[in-house]
Parts: sequence; C-alpha cells; structure tokens
Amino acid sequence: MPSIDLTAGAIGRHTYSRRRAARPSALSHYTYYIYMLNRIIDQSKVDHFAKWFHRADKIVIVSHLSPDGDAIGSSLGLWHFCENQGKTANVIVPNGFPDFLKWMPGSKDILQYDRYKGFADKLIAEADIICCLDFNAIHRIGSMSEAVLSSPARKIMVDHHLHPEDFCRIVISHPEIASTSELVFRLICRMGCFADINREGAECIYTGMMTDTGNFTYNSNSPAIYFIISELLSKGIDKDTIYRKVFNTYSESRLRLMGHVLSEMKVYPERHAALITLTVKEQKQFDYIRGDSEGFVNIPLGIKGVILSCFLREDTERPMIKVSLRSVGPFPCNRLASEFFGGGGHLNASGGEFYGSMEEAKARLEEALEKFAPLLGAKG
Ligand code: 5GP
Ligand code: MN
Repeated sequence: MPSIDLTAGAIGRHTYSRRRAARPSALSHYTYYIYMLNRIIDQSKVDHFAKWFHRADKIVIVSHLSPDGDAIGSSLGLWHFCENQGKTANVIVPNGFPDFLKWMPGSKDILQYDRYKGFADKLIAEADIICCLDFNAIHRIGSMSEAVLSSPARKIMVDHHLHPEDFCRIVISHPEIASTSELVFRLICRMGCFADINREGAECIYTGMMTDTGNFTYNSNSPAIYFIISELLSKGIDKDTIYRKVFNTYSESRLRLMGHVLSEMKVYPERHAALITLTVKEQKQFDYIRGDSEGFVNIPLGIKGVILSCFLREDTERPMIKVSLRSVGPFPCNRLASEFFGGGGHLNASGGEFYGSMEEAKARLEEALEKFAPLLGAKG
C-alpha cells in the first residue's frame, strides 16, 4: 500500500493530473474516487479546452434565462478560476437572478444582458472563448443567442441537460452528472488546476451542486459528489452558512404566499400526484417578486405517497403558464413535459409551457395524469 497523505487538499493537488491514474489494486476506496473523477470528461476535450484556455485572454461565460443556483454557481466558479489565471473574464446572463444568490462572491460583477445589451454584445463579439454553461439549446439564452452565435469566439458547452444542440466546438455534456457546477470542478481539476480553485470559487461551485440536488436530496447518490464536497471544504467553504444563505432567506411575503399556495393545493391520491398553482392575481396579492416561488414545486413531494408534483404559474410578462414538474423514483416527468407541455428536462425535474387559461392548464395536466396512470402506480 503506497503511503498517501490523506489531507484532502493534498490529495487533490497530487492526483488531479492530466494523466489518467490507473487504479492500483491496493488503493483505498477514498483514492478510488479520484480515479472516478478522472474518468468522466473525455481527455481529448480537456486537452482541447486547455489549449484554447492557455492562449486566450478574453473569456465570456454565459448561462441560461432565469438563472438558477447552478447557472450562477457554475459560471462564477469558472469565472473565479479565470480571474486567478489572469484572464479577462465576464459572466453574462440573459436576465435577472434571485436575491438569494446575490451573496455569492463575484455576483455583483455579473452582467445582465437585458440591461446592458450594447456592452455585453461588444464583450461577446470580442471574446476569444465563450463558455456556455448549464444549457443545451441556444434558445435557452433568449435574445443573447444572436450575439453568441455570430461571435467568432471559440465556443465550449459544459452542461448536464439531455440532447445538446450543436453550436459549440467542444461539447462537454453529461446528463448523468447532477450539476454543471460539478462538471466545472471536474474540468478545472482535469486541467491540473485544483490548486487554483480559491475559497470564493469553491463556494460558488458548492452552491450550484447544492441547489441542483435540493441540498443533496435528489440526483445525489454518486459517491464522487461527496468526495468533491470534501475537497471544496478543504478550500475553507462553510457549507452550513451557504445552506442558510440560500435556503433560509425568505421574505415574509414569500412564506405567506407559500402558505396560500399550499392551502389551495390539489392532491390526486389515486395518481400519487399533486398540483399547486399561482395566478397573476395571487402574485399581486402577495407582492410577488421574481424567485418567490422558487422551490415550491418540490414541497408536495413531501406528502407520503406523492411521486409527481406539478406547479403551474401564470407568467406576468407573456400570456403563458409556466409548468414545473418534479418526480421521485423512475417516473419520467420529462416525458410528461414534452408530450403535454412542449417542454422537457430531466427524469425527475422538467418543465414546459402552456398557452391558455389556468383551468385549461389544469385540465391538460389531468389528461396527462390519465395517460401516465400506468406509470404513476396502482390506485390508492
Ligand atoms: P424548473 O421547473 O426549475 O423551471 O425547470 C426544471 C428543469 O426542467 C430545467 O432544468 C430544464 O431542464 C427543464 N425545463 C424547464 N422548462 C423547460 C422548457 O420550457 N422546455 C424544456 N425543454 N425544458 C424545460
Ligand atoms: Mn443545472
């Protein structure tokens, strides 16, 4: 058995080399996780990106509309790394993101495309590299897509949604990985740069991993996740404080809105499903601001026996109802989203849109529950 320095950071420094480590049979499980970390992203893609990266000066990082914790976390995680490497880096997102992510180091430097289009267009056009994080389809960046598509910059996608579109030279797409933030960690480590992740970057990466797994309550059975967390802890992050900053910063009106929405919840016991809804009228009544209903869709899964939760929210800007679906176990809510609401997503977290009234959207869902009844389990 070779002697191993079990200090987490030390292990990271010594072993995230560009060469893939063979697994000597005598190594512990702990060391085996390093071997697993080395395997996920194709070596050729890591090498290709590293070549671009070392030559680049101006790097633009973009993420999807209504950025969530993973969009912001992965973008800022990569941004801190770029800054540490002396690059001129900018994170640009199509529109605003929730207040509970605004504590994140670097978040004040994020450019919002809907506010600073002219400046953002210039950065995008002049970038050497554009990193497309946490989205698989160009329409997910809304009106930014034109500028990104027409930029001569080299483009890389780092993402974990199914069916990546073909608009980037390097496509690192791993739907089996729970968060883009985890992929960013893996990519930096595979470039041999674990040591260049600082505490701020580690906080952002952790936040993305935490939010895309509901604080490690779904999509989170991979042992590697916990290995990575221990490595991030070795950078000095305070995970308990991060949890509080993200999940325990609700406004009074959000909690009252939650109470209201839950009191109106409809449960379909024979379909093991539940539905919550939010109209524009209710949003006004509860002083709704963007992000106030974040996470609501997960709550009905707390009911014993419920394996599918649906949240229908009327949009304030467009005559549209945003559909969010969550499931536990094998129920494919992405299939339901695509067949009934023109959307998609992951097995256990998906969404779509509905054009019509709230009553019609409910009826559509109930139709879907009938169609999917065999997959929603037996009566009772
Ligand atoms: P959320 O419910 O948080 O808005 O979305 C959960 C997941 O569902 C997203 O990460 C995304 O993969 C997927 N999703 C949400 N809305 C849409 C949509 O309109 N179209 C597609 N294709 N996927 C969506
Ligand atoms: Mn994500």
